Amino acid sequence: MSKKKLIYPLILPAILILLSGLLVLRWSYLLQRAKDINEIRAFLVLLPLLPYVFFSIAIIIGWNLNSMGVVLASCVLIILYFEIGKTGTVNLQSKEPISAVSAAIAFLLPLNFIFFATLRKQKLLNRNTIYFLILIGLQITYVVFLSHIANNPHSGFMLYLNNIFPELTKLTINVLNRLISFTYNTSLFGFKNISSPTIVVFLFTAGFILWSFIVSADILLVGFLGALIASFIGISAGRSVPCMVIFFSTAGLILTVTAIHASFLMAYIDEITGLPGRRKLNNVLETFRKKYTIAMIDIDYFKKVNDTYGHEVGDQVLKMVAVKLGKMPGNPQTFRYGGEEFTAIFPGTSIEEVLPLLEVFKRDLSATSFIIRSRERIKRGEADRGKVEIIEENKLKLTVSIGVASDYEDSRDPKKILIAADKMLLKAKASGRNKVTALVKGAVL
Ligand code: GH3
Ligand code: MG
Ligand code: MG
Repeated sequence: MSKKKLIYPLILPAILILLSGLLVLRWSYLLQRAKDINEIRAFLVLLPLLPYVFFSIAIIIGWNLNSMGVVLASCVLIILYFEIGKTGTVNLQSKEPISAVSAAIAFLLPLNFIFFATLRKQKLLNRNTIYFLILIGLQITYVVFLSHIANNPHSGFMLYLNNIFPELTKLTINVLNRLISFTYNTSLFGFKNISSPTIVVFLFTAGFILWSFIVSADILLVGFLGALIASFIGISAGRSVPCMVIFFSTAGLILTVTAIHASFLMAYIDEITGLPGRRKLNNVLETFRKKYTIAMIDIDYFKKVNDTYGHEVGDQVLKMVAVKLGKMPGNPQTFRYGGEEFTAIFPGTSIEEVLPLLEVFKRDLSATSFIIRSRERIKRGEADRGKVEIIEENKLKLTVSIGVASDYEDSRDPKKILIAADKMLLKAKASGRNKVTALVKGAVL
């Protein structure tokens, strides 16, 4: 995974969180300076609505992305924001012990983010949806219950419950009291009002999401990480400063921005190979300023691969070729042009420089054996039920044909250069395949 892919997505959320921190720290000063500006005062009135706006947008985009994780995360954060607005937060500066409700929320929130992150690719309304809704429902019930016990053990609701199920109520209160002491009696790292289990859960979750991001480079995970950090700061802050409002707005904004980013990637990036498609190629070519050389690469007799091993193996082969193409020297920008045809743009490189690189690529590929484990069958015997048995291992040989043209000598019109490269590809095919054919100084090479 390239470093760019892993570092760039983290920059914006990090800046947003830092800016929010700065805003909170300088709040009273800013307020003082803006005291006479009507527009800012109007904005301050609207500020508490901002998290609702951002989370709602995130829900809509998450819905369109068909990502259960994004929708659930936004829904839970919206409910939490609404609830905390009423019950208060875990105030780090306060000398008083925090309420059991806030402690429970601070503990449960990171745990839920593990679910959101794992569910980011689950479709909405699938078979498992009901379980997650029940899980969240149970937590809400727990928190509501807790607020009754903690705030008013003799409330009408508790007395009513005690009348109908005396034993069960006693038992529940007992269990809840234990849970309460678990979530906020012990503290760590000098945070007086946040328990060590809560901090451990938070750090574990943040680490888990970051690790998942490093492995998959999925931008949505950055959204969850940013939203987790921001909302955790939000619930850990006092109500007197606008910390909660600002950090929940930031959490919503980060979720929204990353969900939009993910939608763009989905529109541009081909799922099988992870390469951008033709739309992106046209876009790039139109704005390219450097001179460049274009290569069109088409897998030879690919239909046979599909016919012999099936489409799934065909997809795997496409992916392997895409990876090899991306690793070529010359720093090419690679695209899936369509089907089993790829395009590589070599920026700032003349056709004479590119040809030897492509020859090496073509030769290496034809010398490589792709190992195909075909006809896998799941064992049904008693002893090793469920194990995959490999019946046959095939070595697949691939060749490619490549057509090359460049704007160093031909027209500057990218469409014409693309057509020229495509024509060269046809010539490579016609002359027997496993060939590189180029248009150099008007002559076919
Ligand atoms: P040639 O050497 O002339 O290029 O022959 P070919 O068989 O490679 O070319 P042809 O255009 O006849 O067939 C291309 C095949 O690529 C047909 C299609 O089923 C397959 N294909 C296109 N897209 C995909 C895909 O996404 N996955 C898989 N598995 N196959 C695909
Ligand atoms: Mg082909
Ligand atoms: Mg083709």
